[in-house]
Amino acid sequence: MFDLTGKSAIITGARRGIGKGIALALAQAGADVLVSDIDLEDCKKACQEIEEKTGQQAIPFLCDVTNKEEVEGMVAMAVDEFGRLDILVNNAGISQFKDFFEMTEEEWDKVIEVNLKGQFLCAQVAAREMAKNGWGRVINVASIASGQVGVGFPQVAHYTASKGGVTGLTETLALELGPKGIRVNAIGPGIIETEMTSDMLSDEEQRRNILARTPIGRIGRPSDIGAAAVYLASDEADFVNGIVLFVDGGWLAG
Ligand code: NAP
Repeated sequence: MFDLTGKSAIITGARRGIGKGIALALAQAGADVLVSDIDLEDCKKACQEIEEKTGQQAIPFLCDVTNKEEVEGMVAMAVDEFGRLDILVNNAGISQFKDFFEMTEEEWDKVIEVNLKGQFLCAQVAAREMAKNGWGRVINVASIASGQVGVGFPQVAHYTASKGGVTGLTETLALELGPKGIRVNAIGPGIIETEMTSDMLSDEEQRRNILARTPIGRIGRPSDIGAAAVYLASDEADFVNGIVLFVDGGWLAG
């Protein structure tokens, strides 16, 4: 089960953190991967590590997900190198704490552009390729901060709005792309130890509070999200379409 041998995947924002964890997990399951991000040198390092650990092909690619031409170049590169594109993981994302009254229009636009428009652009270009083969998987990275989960998050109005948009996008694409053989789902990570959360988790009090709220008593790891991506990418998840799979150690249940 969960064998991705012969499959090819693009993972955005994958030079480190959750994206790299997903790329590694997909490769461990047998997929070849294109690791894209806005820093090519880090992509190369991530690819080297993935190839050494898995023996699968890993291709570094510079791509800003808000730039349509670069997104088209990324998908074309995957098809050239792998012969087809099966899996897209829309992982690239940014966040920044800001009081609502202090938030500028530019800050709002930037987060919405990367986190939401980026997913739209990548999904549209990638799904056109997948539709040709009648098989595909789009996995959007949402968040426990995507709204309507019973808890709100202060100081990230742009981020929560973007991630709420991701869940709506996921449902709509599941309807439109399902008949074409493409399954579209989201993963909603809890607090995962990455660069994005490093300030928060290096504050002892905040770390203690997060752990106290997490029933399994640990912070999440990129590999936890990688495992969920492998499941959603697999043939076994054929009947799973339009969901948000929360992977949070029980945080939302707390
Ligand atoms: P991360 O370590 O900061 O990784 C995100 C990567 O995306 C970074 O390398 C970042 O580069 C890159 N990126 C930024 N703008 C981009 C663009 N326009 N095009 C392509 N790549 C871009 O963060 P992470 O924690 O792994 O987050 C990955 C995803 O998980 C994000 O969508 C995030 O919202 C989501 N998530 C994270 C957590 C968590 O607890 N960590 C929880 C819920 C959801 P720069 O750093 O140079 O901007």
